[in-house]
Amino acid sequence: MIHIGKSYIQRVDGQSRLCADITIGNHRNTLWFSVDNSQEQYLCLGRADAFVMAFLAAAMRGDHELVCEDPMSERLHYQLNCDLIPALSSAIDRYHPIHITAPLTAEPYPNAGAVGTAFSGGVDSLYTIMTHGADCGYPISHIVVYNSSHFDQFGDKRQKMFLANCRQVVRFAGTYGLQAVIVDTNFYNVLGIESRSSVFTFRNVACTLALQGLLSCYLLSSAFSLSTFSLNCDRLDEQHTCARYDWLIVISSFTESLSFYLSGGEIKRWQKIQKLADWQPSWQWLHPCWFNAADKTNCGCCGKCICDLVTLYALGTDTLNRYSKVFNIPDFLHHLPERVAYVILNANSNIRAKEAYHLLKNSGVFIPPAAYVYERQFRRAMEQREGGGQ
Ligand SMILES: [Zn+2]
Repeated sequence: MIHIGKSYIQRVDGQSRLCADITIGNHRNTLWFSVDNSQEQYLCLGRADAFVMAFLAAAMRGDHELVCEDPMSERLHYQLNCDLIPALSSAIDRYHPIHITAPLTAEPYPNAGAVGTAFSGGVDSLYTIMTHGADCGYPISHIVVYNSSHFDQFGDKRQKMFLANCRQVVRFAGTYGLQAVIVDTNFYNVLGIESRSSVFTFRNVACTLALQGLLSCYLLSSAFSLSTFSLNCDRLDEQHTCARYDWLIVISSFTESLSFYLSGGEIKRWQKIQKLADWQPSWQWLHPCWFNAADKTNCGCCGKCICDLVTLYALGTDTLNRYSKVFNIPDFLHHLPERVAYVILNANSNIRAKEAYHLLKNSGVFIPPAAYVYERQFRRAMEQREGGGQ
């Protein structure tokens, strides 16, 4: 059993932490979500919602019942117990059909009526921001950054990358008249090593549920189009992440006062890039890079940079050149055969590469013949590496 104690506020170094003591067997730990002191009223005190969502994947994996002292929003409790947990546990071997026990409340949590979304600088989050301006039904008022999973992959550089992202978000929000909210957590210490790809949406939603004093609507940027929805997630390679069933998590996470929507699921990544290319802010803020901090130029040679650069190239030279502030375009063109080779090589195993290659083939732009030579070399090297590892 995982026991979630009553929530409380702790003030530390200018930050306000929403805390709950978590007991698993003989182990006791405190999970917290923190914001700047001035934003303490945004934290959802007296509800177990955020803590349940943070521990949901771990509880299903470990076959632990979740028992809460604080009340849960009745709607969320019903959706998790009756929809999300049964669906995931019946489709995914490693998840068990656990139950959540909590006092319930149907009382809406009072909030400031804000609409929020996360900003990473990547294609998906920029597309969400572009499509939810003042003329939209859910105009974004707040940009959030969650230190909940994405930055864990950088090890010792985790905090540095998070802070760089925070600086970028504050600059972006200030430029476009939006408010920034930064949420730090200690998920990394309390939840141990979880596969980031399998839990990042749960953690993102948990942070959002912790901000029920602020938000009435949260837009989760979809990494994949809804046409790729899948619960066949026994393997955890790039194509089998929880992003494939984001939509199910999102529609199961509503409370009486907070709505969740999946943004961008209606189109493919390359189509988002095509639309972004006509939105001037993206020329300055696009930052899909895996490795370089958000306030630095994109590296241009990681998997995400390559796929997006090849997509921009396939959309035409004018489109590619619009991004000269954020990518080193001459360097990309100098290495064009290798970059195209990467996309061809990965087209069968990576959706971004598959889309980029498909667009490239159909766009009629020049594909350097050397790309196919490099692709064969890369493939041989990969096969030798795999063979050597057996
Ligand atoms: Zn990169």
